[in-house]
Amino acid sequence: QFEEMVYLDKLTMIGQLTASIAHEIRNPLTTVRGFIQFLSKETKDEQFKQFSPIILEELDRTNSIITNYLKMTKPEQFHLTDIPLHEVINGCVQLMRPYASYTNVSIEWEKNDPIFIRGDVHSLKQAIMNIIKNGIEAIEGQGIIKINVKPDYFKNKVQLRISDNGRGMSQEQLKQIGLPFYTTKSKGTGLGSMVTNKIIRDMNGSIEYESEIGQGTKVTIEFPLLHSET
Ligand code: ADP
Ligand code: MG
Repeated sequence: QFEEMVYLDKLTMIGQLTASIAHEIRNPLTTVRGFIQFLSKETKDEQFKQFSPIILEELDRTNSIITNYLKMTKPEQFHLTDIPLHEVINGCVQLMRPYASYTNVSIEWEKNDPIFIRGDVHSLKQAIMNIIKNGIEAIEGQGIIKINVKPDYFKNKVQLRISDNGRGMSQEQLKQIGLPFYTTKSKGTGLGSMVTNKIIRDMNGSIEYESEIGQGTKVTIEFPLLHSET
């Protein structure tokens, strides 16, 4: 689609511009972080002691914004291999469980038959974790994240669905998800979904968001199935 092409061109341009700046910013940032950390241990100044964790946290946030952007602009880090989708999801769930249970969210996932797709394991993990994390963050109080995988051997596709029963999104919000820096969170980066969408596209997959305010959000991803012909 034409609109999408223009959008991707813009992304590439933004990416190339920021990649060079990002590299330059990172070094002084690391230095500043090191000194703040050192001083916060040594200092007897109560105010500095009190506020230095916030400074460090914000520096880390800046760093993660840069990391996300660099990830976008470095396609050479993308190594295609045959991936066991069920195992990757399992790994992501294990990693996210502590964060989920800390916020009273349970993750429902039934391990099923092995399914293989072609892609980059590292990126795929990042994409899945981004989606789970958004689901967890959308839930106030108790909630549940459901993950299921459905292969379609006729269409030669596998569908991965991650849904939450969190606050949901309006149509207006749905249109903006994935745009650079679009966030409704005070500590969000607004880059997670952009990176996720790009990763899935790079793996010849598709992603679709359905949501309703107060009901929750359903993220549906489709990948081409990998044949294990011998
Ligand atoms: P961030 O998480 O840093 O805000 P994202 O790109 O991951 O950036 O998400 C952008 C915005 O999309 C979020 O701030 C939130 O408003 C909305 N969003 C994403 N996923 C969900 C979800 N599962 N439920 C409700 N809103 C969501
Ligand atoms: Mg996010």
